[in-house]
Amino acid sequence: MTAEQHGVRLLIVGPQGSGKGTQGVRIAEAYGIPAISTGDVFRAAVAAGSDLGNQVKAIIEAGDLVSDELTSAVVRDRLAQDDAAGGFLLDGYPRNIAQVAHLDEYLEGREESLDAVIELSVPRDESISRIALRAKEQGRTDDTEEVIANRLAIYERETAPILDVYRARGIVAEVDGVGSLDEIEARILTALNARGLVRAAAV
Ligand code: AMP
Repeated sequence: MTAEQHGVRLLIVGPQGSGKGTQGVRIAEAYGIPAISTGDVFRAAVAAGSDLGNQVKAIIEAGDLVSDELTSAVVRDRLAQDDAAGGFLLDGYPRNIAQVAHLDEYLEGREESLDAVIELSVPRDESISRIALRAKEQGRTDDTEEVIANRLAIYERETAPILDVYRARGIVAEVDGVGSLDEIEARILTALNARGLVRAAAV
């Protein structure tokens, strides 16, 4: 399967503060696919004061996970839009084993599957200091010390295990997430190229 024929379906996974949001946008741009961040979708809904926003506001502020059913429904709606027909990059979903099953089921219905899962590895201390910096710069309500600790614990307990599932499928590309933004992007693109995921522009 090449990018040219079928588009590319990617996930980016990493702890809070790993830079996955920033890199996700860059990689999606490089492949000409939409970057879909469930965190961004939820934050936009909260800012807009929509029904969805009202449902998830308190959960996000506590750093807890929104229910699998609601999150998976939001992602299915987003993936059903035209711009995701030719591929997509998911950031922040799936976040636990149940969501992996939901995504598998949905993609099977489209006769599709994931091409690669980018695992951004960043030491714990580094991710904590990056979150602290982001808290200052962006003032996110879920970047307080207590909420960060909760989010990192949830990552380790619930999200890290999804990598074992994808590793067993042979689709995880582990990338060192320490370095400049350009260096990390280049590492990811090299790892994806090595898996035969060639960018349309480079074909
Ligand atoms: P993020 O920007 O990816 O760290 O997401 C911010 C917050 O949105 C998380 O702390 C959760 O409350 C919620 N969220 C984002 N993605 C998911 C998901 N896949 N499942 C459940 N909750 C999520």
